[in-house]
Amino acid sequence: MIDYEFIKARSLKEALDFLGNYEDVKAIAGGTDLIVDIRKENVRAKGFKYLLDISGLKELEFIEKERDRVVLGALLTHTSLIESPIIEQHFPLLASAAKTIGSPQIRNRGTIGGNINNASPAADLLPPLIALKAQVKLCSVKGERTMSLEEFLAGPYKTNRQSDELMTEVHIPLVSEDYLGNFQKIGRRKAMNIARLNLAILLGINDGTIFDPRVVPGAATAYPIRFGKVEEAISGKDIKDIDPVEIGELASEEMISFTGVRWSTPYKRVALASLVKRALESIFQEAKVDE
Ligand SMILES: Cc1cc2nc3c(=O)[nH]c(=O)nc-3n(C[C@H](O)[C@H](O)[C@H](O)COP(=O)(O)OP(=O)(O)OC[C@H]3O[C@@H](n4cnc5c(N)ncnc54)[C@H](O)[C@@H]3O)c2cc1C
Repeated sequence: MIDYEFIKARSLKEALDFLGNYEDVKAIAGGTDLIVDIRKENVRAKGFKYLLDISGLKELEFIEKERDRVVLGALLTHTSLIESPIIEQHFPLLASAAKTIGSPQIRNRGTIGGNINNASPAADLLPPLIALKAQVKLCSVKGERTMSLEEFLAGPYKTNRQSDELMTEVHIPLVSEDYLGNFQKIGRRKAMNIARLNLAILLGINDGTIFDPRVVPGAATAYPIRFGKVEEAISGKDIKDIDPVEIGELASEEMISFTGVRWSTPYKRVALASLVKRALESIFQEAKVDE
């Protein structure tokens, strides 16, 4: 059994002071990842003495639209993301991903900060947030720093967060109406031996021509990253000249160039190609309707 002391932070300052003054502290937000790991005595949940409950910090539960970005508090639940008119209007890609998470109970407790910091290769918010070029803000008693989510992620279940830091905000730059996105997901979470995948694609489309494409599969590589070769292959092309089947196959090849051939490759090769095809077809359809 994992033994620990439970501490409840009453303010952000109190939480940061505690993280600054004590070693071996683990923050707990919704607990939907952490409690499962603690119960299973997963190695990821070992090596801490204090569980610092930050779930009551109301100051980290907000959504604010600024001139060129939207700022999200790290304690926003998936349900709050789904129900936010700001997210629905500006980042439907993020809302679509949040809608696929767990069950209503999990969406009511699980937070955006927890999803990011748990850094599961299959976390559903990571691909859309990377595609949206999200930045994360980390605070400690020593100060604060902001970095791109891509820089923050350091490996499967690994991040560049220091032990005295708390993630307080996620910043998403606003994109123009020329951008269209699509989120896809297959597989059951935690189903034994069944690989699963997700995918976020965000494309700028101007007069039928693609610009600034962002293609981010999840659970395809050690942790979600942009697929540069796929992006290069579609950038500057007219959507009429793109064969989604061909681009799907290219995505699978790019995945294998990162992972090599593994036990799951025969399944993931076909599945990823099909997700990419579906996402592109859906975006192209929407682009035609918008014309
Ligand atoms: C039944 C079930 C179904 C699920 N389905 C899905 C699914 O479909 N898709 C999906 O992506 N996930 C799923 N999850 C996983 C989980 O619900 C999400 O990842 C959720 O967003 C985690 O948020 P949380 O607040 O509960 O994190 P917690 O469990 O509280 O924390 C997770 C990790 O993040 C750290 N952390 C949390 N907040 C901060 C912060 N502000 N700063 C620094 N570190 C922090 C914690 O220390 C811990 O290491 C599921 C979980 C369960 C139990």
